[in-house]
Order: sequence, then structure tokens, then C-alpha cells
Amino acid sequence: MNHIHEECGVFGIMTPQPEELAHLTYCGLFALQHRGQEGAGISVNDDGVFTTHKDLGLVDHVFTPQVLSGFPRGRMAVGHTRYGTTGGSQRRNCQPMEVNHQKGKMALVHNGNLSNAGRLRSVLEQRGAIFHSTSDTEIIAYLITQARLQTDSIEDAVRLAIPQLEGAFSLILMSAQKLIAVRDPHGFRPLCIGRLPRGGYVLASETCALTAVGAEPVRDVEAGEMIILTADGGLRSDRRYTGTAPKRTCIFEYIYFARPDSVLDGVSVHGARKKAGALLAAAHPAEADVIIGVPDSGLDAALGYAEASGIPYGIGLIKNKYIGRTFIVPSQSERDSGVQLKLSPIRETVAGRRVVLIDDSIVRGTTSRRIVTLLRNAGAREIHMRISSPPFLHPCYYGTDIDSEENLIACHHTVQEIAEIIGADSLGFLPVETLPQLCGSAEICTACFTGEYPTAVEQDESKDRFERKIHG
Ligand code: AMP
Repeated sequence: MNHIHEECGVFGIMTPQPEELAHLTYCGLFALQHRGQEGAGISVNDDGVFTTHKDLGLVDHVFTPQVLSGFPRGRMAVGHTRYGTTGGSQRRNCQPMEVNHQKGKMALVHNGNLSNAGRLRSVLEQRGAIFHSTSDTEIIAYLITQARLQTDSIEDAVRLAIPQLEGAFSLILMSAQKLIAVRDPHGFRPLCIGRLPRGGYVLASETCALTAVGAEPVRDVEAGEMIILTADGGLRSDRRYTGTAPKRTCIFEYIYFARPDSVLDGVSVHGARKKAGALLAAAHPAEADVIIGVPDSGLDAALGYAEASGIPYGIGLIKNKYIGRTFIVPSQSERDSGVQLKLSPIRETVAGRRVVLIDDSIVRGTTSRRIVTLLRNAGAREIHMRISSPPFLHPCYYGTDIDSEENLIACHHTVQEIAEIIGADSLGFLPVETLPQLCGSAEICTACFTGEYPTAVEQDESKDRFERKIHG
């Protein structure tokens, strides 16, 4: 499969004096590593001269001490961590996307998927555009540089280009003089602003990246807002580029994607997950001796379930911290035992006991089935699986990697059948109508659970659409 996904982490920084911004950006990206492990990149702007390095791999693999020390000091930088599954891994899809245009330079980092990318791309191609990558970001770069020909300011170019985009985009653009952040009118993907104690601003997908560089969170970039940071240290907000659209924060950011210590749109991710656990306990109680979570994605919800049910929280599974996504097992039989390497049970927590096992989601059901087997082998008497999200039923066109419908177990089986397939004594999902309670707002996108898409979606808007064009 050639998934091409724009679920990523973005980071931008501007300081009053030249600093070692590559290093600070590296720290910010390190805190955003969970948002993308496929590739990473940094662009530093030293008085209009851009230095960019990007490659496939984890942040600390791409940015070795030698690479970092090769960057000049500067007053502005942007960085990116890229998400992707196996097929779409290509260096040319890594960001920042650095562009030379008639009136100068810009570097762009972007999180989210455009839901009208196919249409925009073919219109641009008919007008002679040649694309080097398969990412939506290049489409945005094209539209901005084309608009730049009609105007003298990069801000106005952004204002002209952005209304053509539909779908999810949280983006940061660095020009010679300015750092500009834009969040789409629905606000699908997060984006926040922080202030450095010595002056200067930081922009990032999540507040955990602000903390990582010693910045104080100021506020979120609002849905439909453009933030302009200027070289004189000013911060301006502009909402002129967008019409009115209902706010639709991605609920899966709270359920799985974001880091629990982040606060998105004023709501703590840890708090939202605990709440999901409490709602799950109310909807699907269980007679049990201990509540355990699948590390790391199920831990916060497990705590919430335990507190709400009064059943003790226990540590039943340990995750090997050093197993990365790139861990390669040599053969199929060893791959089948992959979960034993990654997760290991604590026998004294589960042996002879009735266990409630919490995870954030079921996609194909493979992980759950393996973990249930693992716990049974460790002596668990009963296993009641509880999932802190509703069943996945629909693809996401806004950047979350939801598997295609043929692979989503909930598209083909009832809850009872899934329980049997994974080998659990009982199974319960979070009721879909409780989702607004997770973040105390109904202004959320729940399309992957409900099929209610906030924007029009194109017929062939599959995640690998441009990849297939290229590779046949
Ligand atoms: P599965 O074994 O296919 O049912 O996958 C379920 C596991 O995948 C759960 O433990 C989730 O935490 C994890 N998961 C869910 N969504 C994603 C995603 N978009 N990217 C990576 N992992 C995910």
C-alpha cells in the first residue's frame, strides 16, 4: 500500500536576535515525534538565506550533531515531522518544502490533508505545473507562489491562495522576512502559539513542543485565523482570508494522536482521555478485579475507567521503550511474535483475575487479539475489552491514517463477532453520542466514526491517489 499521509507535526520559531534555531527546532520536533516517524526536516532563515536539511527517519537520526552544527544561526526557522506508512516513504515528500519563486524564497510546513487536492492538482497540471512530490503541500506552495505574482506581499498571496483549499491544513510558511501560520476554517488539526521568555514566538502543532523549547503557551491559532510574525517582533492576527465555517476539531487527536501532556484548543488531552474512560465505564460496566491499559495509547482512559468504576487500576502490560516503528523482524514467524517483543504482561497483576483491558481503538483487530492471547497465557481469568473510541467505519480525508474500509474490522462484524475474533469475554466501544463530552464541545469532526464529513469529499480521494499515478 502506498499511503500518503499528511498527519504530521509542524514547528516554527522567530527570535529577536540570531540564535541556534536549528537546535531549538530539533527540540521542538523531538517533542512532536509521535505525530510522524517517517521523516523530519528543518529550514533556518539567516537574513534571507535559507538552509534546509530533511531526510527519511526519526528526528534524532536525521539530525545528528554534525548535521545540526552545519546550520547557521538565524532568527527564523521551521521544522516538520512526517507521518507515513511503508509505501509512501520518499525523501521528496519530506518537508519543509523550500520554494524559489520570482519574488524570493519560502519554506512551507504543513499538517493535514486537502479534501480537494485531486481537483486542484489537475487544474494546476493543465496550466503547466510540474509536481516533484506527491504531497498536498506542493499544491499549496504552487497556489501561493502563483498568487505572489499578482501581489507585492506574501501575506496577500496567502490570502488569495488559501480560500481555494478545502479540508485540513495547519501550516507555517517562512519567507525572507515573515513567519506566517494558517489554520483552516474548520480547525481540523491543532496549531498553537507560544512566547519565549527572552522575546520571540514559537508556533507548533501541540503545546508539548512549546514546553520542550521553554516557551510559555499563549493561545491556539483559531480556526480560520492567520498569524503573521514580523521581523520587528510583532504578532498580528488576521481573519480576513476566510469565510465562516463551523469549527470541527478532529476528535481522534484527543483519542489517540496527540500527546497526553498537550492542551489542544484549551482542552487537556490527558483529561479528554480520562473522560473517555469514565464514559466507557458508565456505558459498559464490567464485574472485574483490575483495570489495565494498553501502553501507551490506553493508559489515560484506563485510569479514567478505574476512577469511575471504583475498580483498582493496575499495571498489567509493559512496553519496551526501545522498539521503534522501524524495528525489523527477520521472518513471518518472528513477526507473529512481534507483540511479545513490544508488550509483555505482568503476571502478578493479571493471573487468576478478571481483567478490564482498555485500548483507544480497534482497526483490524490484530493488536487486540494478540494482547488478549498474551494476557490469557499470563493467567488472566476473564478479559473484558473496552475501547475508548467508537468503532472506525469510514475513511478520513483530513489526514488521519484510518485504514481502508475493507480492513476495518467493524465494517464487517458486529461487536459480538469482534469479541469472539479477538478472544475477549466481552467487548464495549465508547458510544458515539458521548464524543462531544470528551472535549466539552460539539464542534468536532467525527467523520471516521459517523461518516458525516464537514466538507465535500472527492470520489477518488484515497490516501495514495498521487502515489498510484506515479507508480501505476
Ligand atoms: P489493530 O491491531 O489493527 O486493531 O490496531 C489497533 C491499534 O492501532 C491500537 O492499539 C491503536 O492505538 C493503534 N492505532 C489506531 N489508529 C492508529 C493510527 N492512525 N496510527 C497508528 N496506530 C494507530
